[in-house]
Amino acid sequence: MTASIPELLDRKRWGGRLSRAELERLVGGYVRGEVPDYQVAAWLMAVCCQGMDRQELADLTAIMAGSGRRLDLTGIRRPVVDKHSTGGVGDKLSLIVAPLVAALGVGVAKLSGRGLGFTGGTLDKLESFAGLTVELPPDAFMRQIDSIGAAIAGQSPDLAPADGKLYALRDVTGTVGSIPLIASSVMSKKLAGGAPAIVLDVKQGRGAFMRELDAARELASEMMTIGRAAGRRVTAFVTDMDRPLGRCVGNALEVREAIEVLRGEPSDARLVELAMTVAGEMLLLGGAVSSAAEGQARAADGLRSGVGLAKLREIVQAQGGDPAPVDDPGLLPSARVVLDIGAADDGYITDIEPLAIANTANRLGAGRVKKGDPVDHAVGIELLAQIGVHVLAGEPVARVHARTVEAATDAAASVLAAISVSGSAPAPAGVVLDRFSTEG
Ligand code: URA
Repeated sequence: MTASIPELLDRKRWGGRLSRAELERLVGGYVRGEVPDYQVAAWLMAVCCQGMDRQELADLTAIMAGSGRRLDLTGIRRPVVDKHSTGGVGDKLSLIVAPLVAALGVGVAKLSGRGLGFTGGTLDKLESFAGLTVELPPDAFMRQIDSIGAAIAGQSPDLAPADGKLYALRDVTGTVGSIPLIASSVMSKKLAGGAPAIVLDVKQGRGAFMRELDAARELASEMMTIGRAAGRRVTAFVTDMDRPLGRCVGNALEVREAIEVLRGEPSDARLVELAMTVAGEMLLLGGAVSSAAEGQARAADGLRSGVGLAKLREIVQAQGGDPAPVDDPGLLPSARVVLDIGAADDGYITDIEPLAIANTANRLGAGRVKKGDPVDHAVGIELLAQIGVHVLAGEPVARVHARTVEAATDAAASVLAAISVSGSAPAPAGVVLDRFSTEG
């Protein structure tokens, strides 16, 4: 006899497994509107607590990838790669590497997400450009990659709709930080998006869903297994997220920072290093270079020559956005209240707690509290001094962009508490912690 949905939830709650047919009934039923939010939220929480075995994860990913169209990119007249991050604080890498890699001859088919939990999302950031749409029908998505080399779109009724619905529900039910839920979410989009080669940026640290290095490695390994089984070439980097990435956290602020990097302006060294690593690997998997080092050198040239910036302008325009802020970032949405925060003491900045910064940015309005909430593109936090820098008491270390003076004052207290200052300089820490590849 077929088990009822409450019976499936109860089985998962006690650590049992669901068959492919049962997962299809639950997840497929949710997409079709037959299974309500509250039952799916209960299942998500049970998965967070009990995990999934490999077969269950493979089945879930296949169901999610197959919930819409699976794109066939073989007609596109250039090699195509995709890239995905598991989510971090201040992670604006896709806004830098997608245009840069496309400008250097390798197509980028990027199916991205919105903000998730405390992390920001590429789609929300991109929508800082007035008029820009991330809802590209599959044929328009493929045409754009063929004509200008890159497209950045979200899940849609046609592309991985199961991820679109589950993602929005996880965002507001405390069910994000789970290896099988992240692996199936990321890889279902990558499989549906059709790119034969994928670069994954698996974040580890206090500003990531994977706090521990071993957990991040396990997540990388699960995603590689799914990619390999589907015949995709995959490289996964495990990268540090124990501090915010770059100087800005908040949608339009991060777009502005990405534009500065693409202009070749002096930028946060760790952000640029990671962007060059990921872009170099995408160029390698796309066959444009013969080593990762050559890829990184090409990517760095691309920043100096401004080709990535020109490509960002084209992408924004192709997706219906006003590209003027690419040349004048002052035209991006800006907040009414801007408040500088002074250091509490003289000394070296030894820590910037990423989760506190992310939660503060979200409280300012950069993220969502309920499904479907609008985000405020203008608000966020700028870090004016990075870890390792010596500051004097009162010297500005951060800047809050807020809607109201009260919100700015509240946020300033949280930001100040998140920044540690001490008498001795901290040891430098690397940004790329590990690398795995199906290519060896
Ligand atoms: N990115 C995704 O697409 N899904 C997740 O679950 C986490 C990061």
